[in-house]
Amino acid sequence: MRKRLGQHFLVNPWVIQKIIQTSEVHPEDTVLEIGPGLGALTKPLSKIVSRLIAIELDESLCRHLKTIFADVPHVQIIQADALKMDYEKLGLQKKVKVIANLPYYVATPILLHLLENRTFFSTMTLMFQKEVAERVIAQPGGKAYGYLSIVCQLWSEIKFCFTVPPEAFNPPPEVDSAVLKFIILDKPRFEVKDLNHLLKLIKQAFSQRRKTLRNTLKSHLNLIYSPLLLDKALEELHIPPYLRGEALSVEKFVLLSNYLVERRKEFEYRDSIHART
Ligand code: SAM
Repeated sequence: MRKRLGQHFLVNPWVIQKIIQTSEVHPEDTVLEIGPGLGALTKPLSKIVSRLIAIELDESLCRHLKTIFADVPHVQIIQADALKMDYEKLGLQKKVKVIANLPYYVATPILLHLLENRTFFSTMTLMFQKEVAERVIAQPGGKAYGYLSIVCQLWSEIKFCFTVPPEAFNPPPEVDSAVLKFIILDKPRFEVKDLNHLLKLIKQAFSQRRKTLRNTLKSHLNLIYSPLLLDKALEELHIPPYLRGEALSVEKFVLLSNYLVERRKEFEYRDSIHART
């Protein structure tokens, strides 16, 4: 087993069954599994669904899985890095259900990559280190709330399903795990004018968590928009300037980003007049 690749294989039949039940897969479904490992989830899933695509980075595990599924044409094993996967190339005919016991060392980037490709997926039943699962579902006001919570909650409805103790794996990880189910929304929860801008804004807002939102954003903003505009936006959106980023809801982040994007030009103009006089 390769610790380096986050290889903690599920050995508890109850947990395996519960993940499959939670994912609510049906015979007509296509499932995408990330990191099939020794096939603990792959084998039972292959008996239910009509197409299963499994992406595994480890070459020797891939060889092993290809032997097991040699006579099962609806199961496709792909040796690839899930972080670099180009889902366009899979030629998917319909939205797929993603199921994974994610390798913990790279779970967050894989989740963000999946969300970037969300149009290919209907649901995602994913197991994480419990602390990461808590960050995903965190609400404003606490330390766990941040970039990951906002991005996940913007694009999906998320249910915390159950926790899993280390003994359910071989070798056991050092931490508890948790299963989350994401139901991907057809459109973002709130209308976003400029996604890149919103993502940049959220990253900046959480880059210095102890500072107020206004000060954190101001120290970064010269290139993006004027301080005058930021103050106006905070005032009009009723966001107190002393608030920290972690207190701002997903909706308020979107409203703030939209406001800044929509009024940016106007304020650049006013600023330059101001500078000249
Ligand atoms: N699904 C199996 C189970 O539940 O027993 C194995 C889960 S294990 C936690 C994570 C699996 O992801 C390992 O098989 C590991 O080799 C694979 N893996 C690690 N990094 C990966 C990556 N970047 N892309 C795809 N698979 C990866």
